Amino acid sequence: MLTQTLLGHEPIQQRFTERLQQQKLPHAWMFYGMKGIGKAMLAKQLSQTYLCESLTQSGLPCQQCHACQMVKAGTHPDLEQVGLTWNEKKKQYRRDIRVEQIRQALDFLGLTGMQSERRVLILDDANHMNLAAANAVLKGLEEPSSDTLLLMVCHDISGLPETIRSRCLLEHCSPLEKDDVHQVLQSMALPEQALTLAETLAKGCPGRVQALHDETIVAACLQWQALTQSIQHADLGDIEAWLQKYVKTVPSELIVSILVEPLQQAMQKWSGDYVMIEKIYHAVQTLLTWEHDVRSHALRPVPSLLARILQVRKAWKQAS
Ligand SMILES: [Zn+2]
Repeated sequence: MLTQTLLGHEPIQQRFTERLQQQKLPHAWMFYGMKGIGKAMLAKQLSQTYLCESLTQSGLPCQQCHACQMVKAGTHPDLEQVGLTWNEKKKQYRRDIRVEQIRQALDFLGLTGMQSERRVLILDDANHMNLAAANAVLKGLEEPSSDTLLLMVCHDISGLPETIRSRCLLEHCSPLEKDDVHQVLQSMALPEQALTLAETLAKGCPGRVQALHDETIVAACLQWQALTQSIQHADLGDIEAWLQKYVKTVPSELIVSILVEPLQQAMQKWSGDYVMIEKIYHAVQTLLTWEHDVRSHALRPVPSLLARILQVRKAWKQAS
């Protein structure tokens, strides 16, 4: 959880409350949009809205009642959350949401609420459901129990079967406005030396820079930023050494964002040949897909990133 205050998704909260008060709440909602914009927090706030015993006049959870207290403490017996689970052995999240997780969660939805009549299931990382899990969800969507709510969260809706999408109310969540990002970053209490970097990299998605809480990661990121500021002149030996040391501890998303930021800036200011900029653009795209490619093709992270950096350098040198 980034912060106690949810910023930037007020219209969705408003629509949700209106439908709740008109007793026209759809059984299943799907919140989708970029990573790090607070979609899971939104789902949690809406589940609190659904379970709260006395909403405020503006239709927000009161934060005071027993139900609100329990939702905030993560102990409400009628709220369940499912998502990718942590693999302690491999020190990483598992790749898939498994069918057993979904079946258990749907069984939970089928029971009568303990604290109230209502039950809520938040299904995070919905695009990581394997086929069997997605089919189980579909079955749950076809036979919804009354007084239950399924709130699904995902960043890439295109990976979900159309049969699931068509049975949900789809809500697109937008990146945050600059002022909201600033406020969220302030509330994250990041180390002083991380603030400028965080502001640069967040780009509407403050969750992307959450790892900058850790001072070791901040120091590594600042070093990476200095190394890669000018990719044409960067020392590849230093880059490789840095990657060998930090590729497992610094989140890949930060490694790539720091690398790509000055390139994107330079491309925006580009006044040269159109064909050349297209070459650079394609090379930069390969940096953006690095993490995905490493995971899906089991590539070795350091050599594959180095090769892509070389490609960018080559394109850049040809252009200038
Ligand atoms: Zn309440």
